[in-house]
Amino acid sequence: MKILLGCMLLASGLAMANSHDEAHKPKSFTASGKKIVFVNYKEVTYQITYDINRGRAHALADMNFTATEAGYPVFDSMVRPTSIALNGKAVREMEVKAPQGETQMRIPSEQVAVGDHKLTVEVPLGSKNYGGGGVPAQFGGGGVRSAFWNSDIDNRGLLERYLPTNFEFDRIKMKFIVNLVGAKVPHSIFTNGTQKEISPNVYEIEFPNYFTSSSIYFHITPTAGVKTLNFDINSKFGNKIPTTVYTLNSANADAELAQFKTATTRIINELENDYGKYPHPNLVIYAQSPNGGGGMEYAGAAVTSIGALGHELIHSFFGRGVMPANGNAGWIDEAIATWRDRGYPNFPVLDFQTRMGNQSYYTRWTNVNAYDYGSRFIGHMNYKLGDIKPFLADLLANDKFKPLFTEEFMAKMEAFYGKSFSGEFKQYIMHTHDVIPNQRRGRFKEGESVNPIHAPISEKRLIEML
Ligand SMILES: [Zn+2]
Repeated sequence: MKILLGCMLLASGLAMANSHDEAHKPKSFTASGKKIVFVNYKEVTYQITYDINRGRAHALADMNFTATEAGYPVFDSMVRPTSIALNGKAVREMEVKAPQGETQMRIPSEQVAVGDHKLTVEVPLGSKNYGGGGVPAQFGGGGVRSAFWNSDIDNRGLLERYLPTNFEFDRIKMKFIVNLVGAKVPHSIFTNGTQKEISPNVYEIEFPNYFTSSSIYFHITPTAGVKTLNFDINSKFGNKIPTTVYTLNSANADAELAQFKTATTRIINELENDYGKYPHPNLVIYAQSPNGGGGMEYAGAAVTSIGALGHELIHSFFGRGVMPANGNAGWIDEAIATWRDRGYPNFPVLDFQTRMGNQSYYTRWTNVNAYDYGSRFIGHMNYKLGDIKPFLADLLANDKFKPLFTEEFMAKMEAFYGKSFSGEFKQYIMHTHDVIPNQRRGRFKEGESVNPIHAPISEKRLIEML
């Protein structure tokens, strides 16, 4: 009886997880006479091989998915795969565009029926495959320096930049097997997954099963090149948060790490006071010097300068705790984070309209209006509601790790306060076009970064950071 009950609970848990992902799956469409269908990836294992002697790297992804509609199943990889198999049979692949051209994705050359299937996709991780879009691996000195840096203000800027994966709505149980062939120096792996060395120079990293294409933090580099500080943050909820701060080795490294430790502890305490328990099992911070360029958030991890630390840490609550299901929900966390950066101001009156939550249906990036105008919107709602923080804390407590749409964010706010906010959302967030007051118009254009926090990082800097 006990065993049976356990099985039933497990089965209903899986059904719940899948129904959430199903409900957030983009709609199917037709391209080149083919029915393109989005599917639900359940388990993906990546065998990542760094051949240090030959200066080459590649990844082989085993991707198990469920199709609830027959058609050509979507996966994505910005780099063209070198081989692909569907249910063990070699096939070809092609890239297709979303109906309004807003993004691209890949499909195998054969259709699938409703049911469970497996795609096996191999991609190169060589620097020559990345024209200005990030360099995943550099070899030298008997070692490799490699990372999968995200950008959520670019099309195809998440895990798909490096590895085959799904769109951001999908929670996938992911595992890396990292193999260093011919390593002559010790390496360190910094990650938000759980790592173990399963044989010499072979590492297994398991990520939480709620991770999406925007969650993973992975950086491998020769140990001699970095300085690391490990410590616990005492959560106000009684637990300890195991924290790692690391930085490139330099004369200032120890002082820098100490400064990050103090600031990180203070900011996590502040955020837990406002929004509740820090939602991740641990925290990894790659400390950058003040002139190191922008930062980027991951689930319980961040690349950041000291100035952007608060911004990146609140993203572990909003952005990678409460998660966007698509590009049209990406504004929510940037708005909240920037509102905090600005000291939580009230905005009694707003004088703009935007479509930051109403871009073309398949858009995968965050609209840059999210920072300035999004934070004004949150400050406006805070003014109207007296205090919006209790709602945000409630959202984190009840909806963390469940990717959501802007419409759901609004519905949850309406349910919390017992009022309709459709007028405000339609005007300021989900309008059909942007109207920005004259004095601020022209400060930024679509697709251009306006926030130093997430400013584009040069390719030279991205390589230095490895
Ligand atoms: Zn941000």
